[in-house]
Amino acid sequence: MTSRTSQELAELEREAVEAIEAADSLPRLLEARSQVLGRKGTITESLRGIGAADPADRARLGRELNLAKQRIEARFADRRAALEAGARERELREHRLDVTLPGTGLRSGHLHPVTQLEREMVAFFTGLGFSIEDGPQVETDYNNFEALNFPPDHPARDMQDTFYVEGGNLLRTHTSPVQIRAMQRLEPPFRFVVTGRVYRHDFGPRSSPMFHQIEGVMVDERTSFGDLKGILYAFARQLFGARVDLRFRASYFPFTEPSAEFDVTCPNCAGAGCGTCSQSGWIEWGGCGMVHPRVLENCQIDAERYQGFAFGMGIDRAAMIRFGLPSIHVLFEPDARILEQI
Ligand SMILES: [Zn+2]
Repeated sequence: MTSRTSQELAELEREAVEAIEAADSLPRLLEARSQVLGRKGTITESLRGIGAADPADRARLGRELNLAKQRIEARFADRRAALEAGARERELREHRLDVTLPGTGLRSGHLHPVTQLEREMVAFFTGLGFSIEDGPQVETDYNNFEALNFPPDHPARDMQDTFYVEGGNLLRTHTSPVQIRAMQRLEPPFRFVVTGRVYRHDFGPRSSPMFHQIEGVMVDERTSFGDLKGILYAFARQLFGARVDLRFRASYFPFTEPSAEFDVTCPNCAGAGCGTCSQSGWIEWGGCGMVHPRVLENCQIDAERYQGFAFGMGIDRAAMIRFGLPSIHVLFEPDARILEQI
């Protein structure tokens, strides 16, 4: 085998460089390189042929082939870098992401309106130094009725439409049994609020078999109906605005004496009369009174020395007033679309 002349090598190199420069994709570039520097490439074969060349010519041939190989490799690397950069740029251009488009986002939940109002109410009373008491929803007849001065055959029990459960217990009809539990434990003077679910066999636009109450008790050596009214006025104005008024009506509850029910001016019509308040300008809200001495005695509190007042109202009713809802049931429908509007 005769060795290639310098001119032939120059020609080989020129062809290789042309093929490399002409390659317009990475596969074609690799193909072009393989034809020169692959296992059967022209330069590779020439290098392999050095051994058979004229000994006098071997050094020149080896040097020229190696230099040619280095130059071709360098051109190949440059071309490869250029093709890869181009491909990356094209990809960026074609698969462009518009980061200014609005995202789908995650919807965040929020507290139920009754829970929001309950927390707001509790915050008002804790601000006045009331503590928070809690108790079970399944109660004994004694705590729910008897200790609160409802004797077994007392007609006032009929007002409460009680759900009884097995074993003679019942679903508490008001939060007042928690009063009993707390007053048996606490030493006067004390003041506390109770919130929670209560149950009555009752169903209508403004009543649900399950609803929420908040009630408060304050027992001290000098508490008066005037203190009670002052607190309720401040509470109503905190919840419904500075312009609302309260109206007290003499009433009867076994566990308070004297007792009153109170109404709040309809915030919807400011007392002028509208559909929400049945044209009366007032909305019934809750009951209150001075704690009956027998209830204090049932809790081993000296009724000669101490007296106290108690009040209670529906949280759901307050939510209806606050949010102008036509029915209490809107609050308990598991329909997020409605609750979101409140
Ligand atoms: Zn009204």
